[in-house]
Amino acid sequence: MSYTGPGFDPPQPRRSLRGPLTVALAALVPGALLGWAVYAAVDGPGNGGSSAGASATASASASSGAPSSTTPSPSGDRKPSASPTAEEPPSPSASPSAPAASGPLKGKVVVIDPGHNPGNFRHTAEINRQVDIGTNRKECDTTGTSTDDGYAEARFTLDVAHRMRALLEEQGATVKLTQDADRPFGPCVDERARIGNAAKADAVVSLHADGSGAGNRGFHVILPGAVDAGAADTRAIVGPSRDLGERIAGNFVRVTGSAPSNYVGGGTGLVTRKDLGGLNLSTVPKVFVECGNMRDSKDAALLTSGAWRQKAARGISDGIVSFLRG
Ligand code: ZN
Repeated sequence: MSYTGPGFDPPQPRRSLRGPLTVALAALVPGALLGWAVYAAVDGPGNGGSSAGASATASASASSGAPSSTTPSPSGDRKPSASPTAEEPPSPSASPSAPAASGPLKGKVVVIDPGHNPGNFRHTAEINRQVDIGTNRKECDTTGTSTDDGYAEARFTLDVAHRMRALLEEQGATVKLTQDADRPFGPCVDERARIGNAAKADAVVSLHADGSGAGNRGFHVILPGAVDAGAADTRAIVGPSRDLGERIAGNFVRVTGSAPSNYVGGGTGLVTRKDLGGLNLSTVPKVFVECGNMRDSKDAALLTSGAWRQKAARGISDGIVSFLRG
């Protein structure tokens, strides 16, 4: 679980003639759909009779515009165990500096925002402080969720961030993290947004894994909705953020073989929200990626696998590279 507050936006039938996933998939190699179809056939989210099983035919699902059952995640973040027991292969060694001197992304700045912080649960007073997100006030940060075995979302997000940093630096990008477990808690969501803005980032991705109910599976990318309230004005970033998000969703499917969420987004893997400070306060293209549902045992088996996290990092990074290269 990455946030509390109002539920997801309702499905958006107005996009029915130009389903986001159709667009995302159109930009991909055919292998993406093939991989997804294999996933759906072998281990798809329809095992429990979920309506999302039909999403194996991506364009059909997207073009029908049929609202799926929209079940917002429970709002209560679970305190992660202080001593996760899940497998934790080492992530690539940290290399905060020394970006590649050359490469297709030379001159591009990518900010990776690893959601939450492993120390947040020791600082509940600080992270419960309310901050201004333009539309309203909201908690500074949350603890994040964890798998049933105690693998914390905050550890997951840092691990994927390190893997992404290595991949993007190989492409020549300058990569900055909003936090690297190098501070006792946070930063607050408003500061997370400001870090991307101050870096004049060409793209920002906030990494998360969800804390929804068992049986809810798959990834989704959260796009900023158009907000103009107080300090928040996302109108200039809505378009490019959607482009970024669609490319990430398509590449995530292609590389991981995971299906889009079967519980939000109507099978598109894309959800638009206006209640997240990290998006509302951004002035540069930014999306959130919910890589899977930590509270579902099948998704948890993926999220706790270092090999799968490498695929997730590559899928997201490939989407960023695609966006930045146009
Ligand atoms: Zn989260």
